Amino acid sequence: MDPAANRIPAHTAHPVFAELPETVFEAMSRLARQHSAINLGQGFPDGQGPDDVRAAAARALESVSNQYPPMMGLPSLRSAIAAHYWHHQGLDLDPEREVMVTSGATEALAGALMALVRPGDEVVLFEPMYDAYLPLVRRTGGVPRFVTLQPPHFRIEAAALAEVFSERTRVVLLNNPLNPSATVFGSDDLGLLAGFCRRFDAVAVCDEVWEHVIFDERRHLPLMALPGMRERTVKIGSAGKIFSLTGWKVGFVMAAQPLMRVLSRAHQFLTFTTPPNLQEAVAYGLSKDDAYFEGMRADLARSRDRLAAGLSRIGFTVLPSAGTYFLTVDVAGLADDDVTFCERIVREHGVAAIPVSAFYAQGNVRHLVRFCFAKTDATLDAAVERLAELFRAG
Ligand code: PMP
Ligand code: GLN
Repeated sequence: MDPAANRIPAHTAHPVFAELPETVFEAMSRLARQHSAINLGQGFPDGQGPDDVRAAAARALESVSNQYPPMMGLPSLRSAIAAHYWHHQGLDLDPEREVMVTSGATEALAGALMALVRPGDEVVLFEPMYDAYLPLVRRTGGVPRFVTLQPPHFRIEAAALAEVFSERTRVVLLNNPLNPSATVFGSDDLGLLAGFCRRFDAVAVCDEVWEHVIFDERRHLPLMALPGMRERTVKIGSAGKIFSLTGWKVGFVMAAQPLMRVLSRAHQFLTFTTPPNLQEAVAYGLSKDDAYFEGMRADLARSRDRLAAGLSRIGFTVLPSAGTYFLTVDVAGLADDDVTFCERIVREHGVAAIPVSAFYAQGNVRHLVRFCFAKTDATLDAAVERLAELFRAG
């Protein structure tokens, strides 16, 4: 069939979406299914998440109302979020005025951009960037200004910020820890960025969905905690990552009340609310003791080390991974570019991965490939075994 027959006439669609391909995650997961490949592409664990959190959701399905919860989120969850961030990050949040529940971090991001960006406003983006950011910025009429972070360290530098910040800067969108490069920004990078936000009166939207998934005794530093940032930061979190339940799509937004007021206006017409039993279960989960969070990190760090060691042993150059579910390898010399490499390994070796160039809009980075290590040892070992053929053949 003519593929054009499936398309609505271009003039009826918004060009940002009319011209957008399917996400790289969906495309690679489909290829993985088609080729019966081990899927180390799209970021999801192969476990079921914590039994007690799932049991809490099942119980709540019977015991709490299944009608519309309050637009801002169940009071029990908003209190649990405030208590959680006080305990883990020392943030003092008013659960009634400064916390809102969303249907995943994705909704929170879309809502924040809709609420804050006016057509023509400049939005600073750091690439590599999560794939949703740029289309959402463009759809709001914002003008993207890119800071290209360079492998292997992906640090934020003053000179790069000086090039993109101006009086027109309205919003800065940062992901920390950073997917896909697995970088954790600390006080140096964040202090620089905070200085520019203050100087140019910009609002920072900080996507911190990976805040609990950081390794080697690192501590997450929320941008909101830096001097002068409390009133100008929108902090975004996601239960999907905290509890390894990526399908749940329970997100949260924290911001000072004047910002929250406008964020809630966008949220009320995006999804308005989020399934109440999942909210109740996330409230239960957020108050789990430190041992859960430490155990989750330790398990994932062990998986990271196992995959990194396996990939290094067979011949890959593995870049450091300080957090997230991901590590990246350098494929320069193994293929013309990362996309060609990923297509080849899924078809010929039965392993799916993600080409990191999908996270860049202008930077010429085409030699890195991302693997997800949030998998069982058996899955990781089998993937390494399959990939070893690449080097044997060469
Ligand atoms: N931001 C980043 C950086 C992510 O990696 C993801 C998902 N992995 C999301 C947002 C989306 O989170 P959610 O599933 O809660 O919408
Ligand atoms: N965030 C996930 C990743 O980086 C994918 C999410 C999605 O598929 N929309 O792999």
